[in-house]
Amino acid sequence: MSQKKDYYEVLGVDRGCTEEELKKSYRKLSKKHHPDLNPNDTASEDKFKEISEAYEVLSDSNKRRQYDQFGHSSQGGGGGGGFGGGGFGGFEGFDFGDIFEGFFGGNGFGRNSNPNSPKVGEDINQSTVISFLEACKGVKKTINIAYKKSCESCRGNGSESGTSLESCGQCKGSGVIKVQQRTAFGAISSSRACTSCNGKGKIIKKSCVPCGGRGFKEEISDINIDIPAGIDHGQTLSIRNSGHAGLNGGPRGDLNLTVSVSADSLFKRKGYDIICELPITYMQAVLGDDVVVPTIDGKVKYSISAGTQPGTVFRLKGKGVPHVNSRSKGDQYVEVNVEVPKNMTKAQKEALRNFENLLTTKNYEKRESFFDKIKNMFKD
Ligand SMILES: [Zn+2]
Ligand SMILES: [Zn+2]
Repeated sequence: MSQKKDYYEVLGVDRGCTEEELKKSYRKLSKKHHPDLNPNDTASEDKFKEISEAYEVLSDSNKRRQYDQFGHSSQGGGGGGGFGGGGFGGFEGFDFGDIFEGFFGGNGFGRNSNPNSPKVGEDINQSTVISFLEACKGVKKTINIAYKKSCESCRGNGSESGTSLESCGQCKGSGVIKVQQRTAFGAISSSRACTSCNGKGKIIKKSCVPCGGRGFKEEISDINIDIPAGIDHGQTLSIRNSGHAGLNGGPRGDLNLTVSVSADSLFKRKGYDIICELPITYMQAVLGDDVVVPTIDGKVKYSISAGTQPGTVFRLKGKGVPHVNSRSKGDQYVEVNVEVPKNMTKAQKEALRNFENLLTTKNYEKRESFFDKIKNMFKD
């Protein structure tokens, strides 16, 4: 028989570790090696058995003390015999609710569910739409929130006139149903929230009329929120302690406000930079001109130099979006777009042709070099 591995080593913890550390490590490892998540992987299966065995001993303070003193021989039979060898009998009746709660998104029902302990209020998730300029400048918004308010009529328990609730017969008031499952590794028992009472352990015999048995009513409150300059589309602001009220003196939940920024007709955002397009005329491009460019801070003047080509991008430094929580700002990039005139009259066309006839190859550097390249390409 191969030497049995040290239980602390198996769980990757120190000999002096706390129960909490032990549990944490066990959860992590058992999740990693759980047979359901590693089908047909015998190495994981063995590892999983090893971890479970180690945890069963170390999580029991008596067994742990004995193990610390006598090692594996303390567990009867001096070689894992206490666990039924390969039969994995030690698993029988082991509470798996504990692991599953962590990784199937269970919300901690059953355990730590003393109804009188303080509980954090629920978070409220809401969204709001602001304009592009509001996102750049920051804005105060009034948000309507439907807060849950404990029903006065039943004092929050949902039962008619607040009469006391009956213990749930299905789960005997515990709120938890234990389910046993036979598997290749022995019986696995797990805990599930009781469906008859939704894990509350108590049943409302006759519902409170004013609140319909929910125990609360909704009260609309206006909340003023400062949305900071620089916020981007899809970002969520979390405002602490602005969610629903806590229970039994617990703190309020948070208000999570997701911001949608509506598209702007002039500006587009790229990170903290702003992109905009500037349509100019053919003549402005040829001769240069002083133009007016819109920015989020108002209009600015810009001199376009003579011979500006379409697609030229110039930068207005510091005219972009402010960084949230800092003084720095992005830049604005302006792309010059030469608008080609349409719907020309006969006289206009005539004038344009006359003008074009005055031009020489010197006026068209790019065309000149383009045709040179073509000529060279087909020389042979
Ligand atoms: Zn009520
Ligand atoms: Zn129940």
